[in-house]
Amino acid sequence: MSESTGPIAAPTSAGNPLLQAWTTPFETPPFTEIAPEHFLPAFEQAFADHAAEIAAITNDPTEPDFANTVTALERSGKLLNRVAAVFYDLVSAHSNPALLEIDKDVSLRMARHWNPIMMNAVLFGRIAALHDKRAELTLTSEERRLLERTYTRFHRSGAGLDDAAKKRMAEINERLAQLGTDFSHHLLGDEQDWFMEIGEGDYDGLPDSFVAAAKAAAEERGLPGRAVVTLSRSSVEPFLKMSSRRDLREKAYRAFIARGDNGNANDNNALIGEILGLREESAKLLGYPTFAAYRLEDSMAKTPEAVRGLLERVWKPARARAMADRDALQELVTEEGGNFKLAPWDWRFYAEKLRQRRANFDDAAIKPYLSLDNMIAAAFDTATRLFGVTFAERKDVPVWHPDVRVWEVKDEGGAHRGLFYGDYYARPSKRSGAWMTSLRDQQKLDGAVAPLIINVCNFSKGADGEPSLLSPDDARTLFHEFGHGLHGMMSDVTYPSLSGTSVFTDFVELPSQLYEHWQERPEVLQRFARHYQTGEPLPDDLLQRFIAARKFNQGFATVEFVSSALLDLEFHTQPAASVGDIRDFERRELDKIGMPEEIALRHRPTQFGHIFSGDHYASGYYSYMWSEVMDADAFGAFEEAGDIFDPKVAKRLRDDIYASGGSRDPEEAYIAFRGRPPEPDALLRRRGLLETPEAA
Ligand SMILES: [Zn+2]
Repeated sequence: MSESTGPIAAPTSAGNPLLQAWTTPFETPPFTEIAPEHFLPAFEQAFADHAAEIAAITNDPTEPDFANTVTALERSGKLLNRVAAVFYDLVSAHSNPALLEIDKDVSLRMARHWNPIMMNAVLFGRIAALHDKRAELTLTSEERRLLERTYTRFHRSGAGLDDAAKKRMAEINERLAQLGTDFSHHLLGDEQDWFMEIGEGDYDGLPDSFVAAAKAAAEERGLPGRAVVTLSRSSVEPFLKMSSRRDLREKAYRAFIARGDNGNANDNNALIGEILGLREESAKLLGYPTFAAYRLEDSMAKTPEAVRGLLERVWKPARARAMADRDALQELVTEEGGNFKLAPWDWRFYAEKLRQRRANFDDAAIKPYLSLDNMIAAAFDTATRLFGVTFAERKDVPVWHPDVRVWEVKDEGGAHRGLFYGDYYARPSKRSGAWMTSLRDQQKLDGAVAPLIINVCNFSKGADGEPSLLSPDDARTLFHEFGHGLHGMMSDVTYPSLSGTSVFTDFVELPSQLYEHWQERPEVLQRFARHYQTGEPLPDDLLQRFIAARKFNQGFATVEFVSSALLDLEFHTQPAASVGDIRDFERRELDKIGMPEEIALRHRPTQFGHIFSGDHYASGYYSYMWSEVMDADAFGAFEEAGDIFDPKVAKRLRDDIYASGGSRDPEEAYIAFRGRPPEPDALLRRRGLLETPEAA
C-alpha cells in the first residue's frame, strides 16, 4: 500500500487488527486478536487501496517506463496480500463455519476485484509498450524476467481481448472462483462428517501407535475415551495397511474413495462438469483449442503432448510392475487360506505382509524411531549442513492454534532470515493433505523483507502425552514440505512477484522432492532416527531394510499417481461437452489405459482438489513427475561428488535453485546447477522400475 495513493484507513481500522500496524515480534500477524468479523471490512479496504494504486499507474500522464509501470505494479496491493495471506491460512488450516461462509463472499469479491485489473486495457497498453521495446531497455536480468512474466500474465488473462470477450471472461472467472470454493467446502464437509468408531474388538493388526492416534482423533471430535478412524489420509491409509479386519477395511476404503461422490449436499459431480465447460470456453476465448493447451504453454512442459509423452513412458513399466505385484499378493491371499479375489481394500494390507516377508520389514517397527521432534531436527540439521542456516524456537510469536510452533531462521553469520511456522497435527478444522504457504514473502524492493513461511501437515497426534510417531511416508512428507519451505526461506530476489515458490508448477516440486532424498540417507537416519523411549539409534539392519523397502510397492504408487495425472490431462484436452457423466468418463478413461481394478486413483474426480478447488494444478498434476525427473537427476550431483552435503554442490543448489525463485528461466537455472539437462531414466531407476519385477 502506497501512502500517497491509498485512502486514509483510520476511521474503519479502529479495532481491526488487520488494518493496524503489527507490533508483534517480527511484525507477524496478531492471530490471537483476529476474529472472523475483521476480514470483510479489511478486504474492502484492501481492494479500495489496491484499485487506487492501479488507477494511479494508469492515470500517470508520463511515458510508461519500467519504474512507473512494472515496479509500481510490484509495489501495489500490499494490504491485500497481507489480509489474504492470513485469511487463506486460517481457511485451510483452522477454519470454522463463520470463516467458510466469509470465504464464499471473498472468493467472489476477489474475482470481481482482479478481473478489471488483469483486463485493464490502459494498464496492459503500458506493459505491452515496454515489452515491445524490451531489447532497448537497460534492465538487469531479474528485471527482464519480471517484464516478461508481467506481460505474459496480463496477456494470458485476456487483457488483449475485445470488450465483449472480456465481459464474458470476467463472468467465467467469477463463476469458476465460486465453483472452486464450493468444491473444496464440499470435500471438507464429507471428510468432517464421516468417522468409523472402532471398539477394542476391532483392533486386530493395529499397532498401539495407531490406536493412540485413533483415540486422539475421537477426543478431537468430542468422543473422549473412544477411538475413531477418520477420512484423513494419515488415518485411512495406515488402517488399510494394518487392520486385519477385511470388513472394516472395505468400509473405510469405500468411504474414502466416495468423498464428494455421495449424492448428498456435498456432491461434486455437477460442479466438475460446469468447471470443465467454463475452462474450455475461456481457453477458446484466448485462442487455444483446449484448456490444457492454454495452461501448458506457460510451463516447462509447454504442450499436452510432452506431458502425455512423459506419463506414458512411466505408465508401461509401472503397470507391468503393479500387475506382477498383484499376482504375488493374490498368491499370498490363497496361501493364507483366503478364498477371495484381491480387492482394492486388500492391496495395502497384503503388500505390507509381502514387504515384511521379502524385506523382513514393517512400518510399525520403524515408527518408534521416527518421532516428529526427531524428524523436525533432522530436516533442520540437513538445512544447516547444506545452507548454513540455523533454527531457534520462539515462544513469543502469536499463532492460530496452540499446536503451531515457530522457529526463527538465521543465516550463517547470525543475521535474521525469517520465521518458520510448523502446524503438524491433524484436526477437524484443517483440510486434508500437507502444504507450504507463506504469511509474507521475501523481497527487497524497498529494503529487505524477511519471509514468514508455513508448513501444514496432518500427522496423527500422540495420545496421553506420548510423542507423535511418524510413518516413513509421513517423515517423507515432512521433508517434502520443508523443502518447499526452504524455497520460500532461502529466496533472494528483489521483486515480490518473483519470490520463492513463484515458479512454474512443474518446477515447484523440484526443491521439495529433492529434499526428500536426504530423509532416506543413512548419514541422516543414523543421527536422528532414535527410539522415542530409549534414545537408541535405529539398528543398522533395520536401517538397511528400511532403505531397501523404499522401492517396494512402487508399481502401485506410480500407477495410482500416473493414472490420476492422465485423467487430469484427459479432462482438460477432450471437448467438455463429450465428458458427460463424470463416473462414466472416469471408467472409460481408466479402461483405455488398462487400469488394474485392484488399484484406485490417488484422487478420484470428486475429491481431486488439486485440479478442481482452483486452477493452479488443473492439467498440471503431472508436475510432480516432471519435477521428479529433475530431482532424481539432481541428487545425483551430490552422489557423484561423494558427499551428500558437498559444499560446492550445495552452494550451486542454493544459488541456482533455492534462492533464485522465479527470477530465472527454470530450464536455464537447472542447467546452471547440473551442467546439463536432466536425464529422465534417473526417475525410473529411483522408483526401481527399470529392474525386473522378480528382483524387487
Ligand atoms: Zn509439493
